Amino acid sequence: MKISLAMHSSPRFSTWIWLGDWRALIDAGDGATQQLGYKIRKIDTVLCTHAHRDHIGGLLQVINQRGEAGPFALAHPCGSRSFGELAAFAMKFNPGSSHQAIWHALEEGDPIETGIEGRWVRAFRTRHYSDDQPQHAPKSLGFHLMWRKQKVRADLRHLTQPELDQLRLREGLAALQVLEASGQAPAEPREREALLGQLGREAITEPVDEKWISIGGDGQPLRAAEVAGSQLLLHEATFLSADDYDAEEAGEDVGHVHSTVSQALQVAHEAGVENVVLYHISTRYPDADIAQAVREEAARLRLQARVWAALPRRVYWDLLREKPLYQP
Ligand SMILES: [Zn+2]
Ligand SMILES: [Zn+2]
Repeated sequence: MKISLAMHSSPRFSTWIWLGDWRALIDAGDGATQQLGYKIRKIDTVLCTHAHRDHIGGLLQVINQRGEAGPFALAHPCGSRSFGELAAFAMKFNPGSSHQAIWHALEEGDPIETGIEGRWVRAFRTRHYSDDQPQHAPKSLGFHLMWRKQKVRADLRHLTQPELDQLRLREGLAALQVLEASGQAPAEPREREALLGQLGREAITEPVDEKWISIGGDGQPLRAAEVAGSQLLLHEATFLSADDYDAEEAGEDVGHVHSTVSQALQVAHEAGVENVVLYHISTRYPDADIAQAVREEAARLRLQARVWAALPRRVYWDLLREKPLYQP
């Protein structure tokens, strides 16, 4: 698994995550443009998990800076009215670059293409607002970063490589003959050869969507079944333990709900994911306490996953290249 992950996450203040491989920015907290600088122009898709200040505080700047480089997609939960208000304000404030943002109001399950062939994103519902009932349009979303690959068809996977090669050639020739019969095949031998190879490959393969990264945004523990199969899970862990759960800091007095380290790792455990990044960890904790809590909890679960934590206050440029806090 090679995934480049640049990010910053200090709850209440700012969260942003830059996935260069997908050319996607997840959330745009305060300071996102300042830190990312001209990388902002490489963004094809901005994905907003929800409209809290610490996740959208830098969005106006992103729209303005990115907009100068041409059109880009900006996706957000369809049940959140704040994004419509922001879009209207951005258009008045700086129409020249704001009109380049193509806003997508996403429902649960909605896909969105990225600018990179084969890479796309699927939204899933999260539980961050206590008044966000399943029958309402979602106010918060998580995202699966998906990668579509051509793989050998499921019904052919028992074949040996020589058998597959033979089948590919046979199927390719049959498809080419159909084209020849209708006069659509190229006469030039090299072009004909290339087309034969392509037709053969198409006949024995099928597109398979792999879930690479699942990002939950803020909220209650994700459903294990939702994130199972992902190569990398990013789960929020605002509090180190349930004893610290501070209703005011969590924003529960205004109906927002968060997770603990223990809950986040439990999700990873149940889902069987092998790589986990904990983020959105309260700035009240010293770094050493965070590391200790993560190690203890992972050991208690006998977690079969590598665990990193994006410590609050810090900016990471390639988090997964750092030593994990815990490994099995
Ligand atoms: Zn937050
Ligand atoms: Zn929030």
